[in-house]
Amino acid sequence: MQNIAYYNGKVGPIEEMMVPMNDRACYFGDGVYDATCVVNHVPMAFDDHIDRIYRSAKLIDIDIPMPKDEMKKMLLGLIAQVEGDVLFLYWQVTRGVGMRNHPYSAAGDKPSIWAFVRPNKMRDPFGVYKCITLEDKRFYYCNIKTINLLPAVMANQKAVEAGADETIFHRGPRVTECSHSNVHIIKDGVLRTAPCDELILPGITRKHIIAICGKKGIPVVEEPFTVDEMMAADEVFFSSSSALTCRIGEIDGKPVGMKDEKTFAAIRDAYQAELRAECGVK
Ligand code: PLP
Repeated sequence: MQNIAYYNGKVGPIEEMMVPMNDRACYFGDGVYDATCVVNHVPMAFDDHIDRIYRSAKLIDIDIPMPKDEMKKMLLGLIAQVEGDVLFLYWQVTRGVGMRNHPYSAAGDKPSIWAFVRPNKMRDPFGVYKCITLEDKRFYYCNIKTINLLPAVMANQKAVEAGADETIFHRGPRVTECSHSNVHIIKDGVLRTAPCDELILPGITRKHIIAICGKKGIPVVEEPFTVDEMMAADEVFFSSSSALTCRIGEIDGKPVGMKDEKTFAAIRDAYQAELRAECGVK
């Protein structure tokens, strides 16, 4: 198949999948999601993503009505049916179906499980990317991977209109993360990345990057950094499960980073190698 979709046990092509209008995803964005890249039909860092969706669900009082092992089996079953070397796996759990009403205590049915798999293209790991900055106008639940994404969607649209690849958010002077990735800087050989509080999503790629730095002897500081510090950094890059590690060479039209290729390349290459090994790519 070219793609596949799943909704509470129904399976079919995504273009034909119908969902009930009263699913609280439609009215409230009341749910959580996760997503990862699939290479050779192997989802990258699968257990990390599975763990995160259960954590996100718990944080908004959703009890996922499927054990982790069963969810993995169901998702792997979908992946197996789609052709292609590089695929995108997306899945979400919403609070379920019920008449529109803000409180969820009477939401009715059990939570709904949605998923799709479609072909994907990896970004060039050797590319140099452009970003813009925007004030972070999201709420304070950024640690939860909620499907409420309007500010992120608007911010990403602004990047596209500016001919850029990603939008870096800041709250006042403090850089938080990007519209759909984390952002990190390297200064004097040290990796600096925002701490995991309610202002950023604890990225799986971020976690792996920190572990790689540990193995390579690259010091890591999990502390906030400012826009000025980012503009003066030796390297700036963003990371996500679909973008992997993307080196940034321009922010708001001004040149940035590109001064410590050795440290950046050590992280990039180690992460690429980790994924190749995990997905069985030579
Ligand atoms: N931050 C936000 C807001 C995201 O949406 C994402 C990914 O979708 C990330 C960070 C990166 O997370 P991960 O590395 O787990 O893909």
